[in-house]
Amino acid sequence: MQTTMIPAAPARLQPTGWQQHWREAIRDPRELLSLLGLQALAGVSEAAAAQFPLRVPRGFAARMRHGDPHDPLLRQVLPLDAELRPAPGFSLDAVGDAAARAGHGVLHKYAGRALLVATGSCAIHCRYCFRRHFPYAEETAAAAGWRAAVAAIRADHSLHEVILSGGDPLSLATPKLAELTDALAAIPHVRRLRIHTRLPVVLPERVDDALLAWLSALPWPVVVVLHANHANEFGAGVDAATAALRARGATLLNQAVLLRGVNDSLEAQAALHERGFAAGVLPYYLHQLDRVAGAAHFEVPDDEARALHEAMRMRLPGYLLPRLVREVAGDGSKRPL
Ligand SMILES: *Cc1c(COP(=O)(O)O)cnc(C)c1O
Ligand code: SF4
Repeated sequence: MQTTMIPAAPARLQPTGWQQHWREAIRDPRELLSLLGLQALAGVSEAAAAQFPLRVPRGFAARMRHGDPHDPLLRQVLPLDAELRPAPGFSLDAVGDAAARAGHGVLHKYAGRALLVATGSCAIHCRYCFRRHFPYAEETAAAAGWRAAVAAIRADHSLHEVILSGGDPLSLATPKLAELTDALAAIPHVRRLRIHTRLPVVLPERVDDALLAWLSALPWPVVVVLHANHANEFGAGVDAATAALRARGATLLNQAVLLRGVNDSLEAQAALHERGFAAGVLPYYLHQLDRVAGAAHFEVPDDEARALHEAMRMRLPGYLLPRLVREVAGDGSKRPL
């Protein structure tokens, strides 16, 4: 899929363009471990990697602590034996996407908002993600020249916000994104564009001049919902990317997933939201894990999650407190815990 959706880098103009960083991602767990000085690590699983391959941009790996098997960034990407243990209640379609599909790659679950599964590609593979089981190949909105998705949005006058999601929508080349927004610009009832993306965090090179020019020219207010789970995911490259997005008028929010061993402490949560704010990003949602098969070892029980959220409320300014929610199949919004 990547080879068809990521065009060849325009090598003459941008020898280190984002596609190059994309292609150079680490895909071998042994290489990642050896870069971190961790040759032999118990629990690392070839079989789990065969089910959902490891993928980590080198710049993201560079933000992991050397020699620390418990590094919170490493835990998000390392394939483990624990993923293969069956866990009751953890299933393949945990959020009911199969039932909510309204057209090719279009999910219409909530009032006024259409979510486009723009593409199945991601620059990083997060072990806790529902994406590991989603049948993207047949279902992406971009695959059919956006035609079915645009037709579905045009036909439903109740839709005012289009959410580009995935996979990671910014894994599409900028001209492909422009193809969609050009078509949407002709639909009067579309008033807002939202982009759910982890790329400015995990591969900030993606926020290049072409993307910024596209963003500046859009006819709607734009909300970019980033996805960072730990303060260490930020760095100079990410700060430059978020500053550039803000300079083009985008509103920046962050959603995180509450993950055992990654960000399940008050210190980690406070640091995440304070560091995000320093990069111009406000917290939006703190998600309880979607109960997807293979992710059970990341789960934090609801009562512990609520207690953590209460402690965060006492510690953080109100504007740095994310909403603690869970996605429940069939609900008309994310459900507050
Ligand atoms: C999460 C989600 C949205 C966006 O919900 P907000 O509460 O507006 O962030 C929209 N559509 C679908 C299908 C979703 O899963
Ligand atoms: S959709 Fe988001 S959380 Fe899932 S693998 Fe891609 S980047 Fe990670």
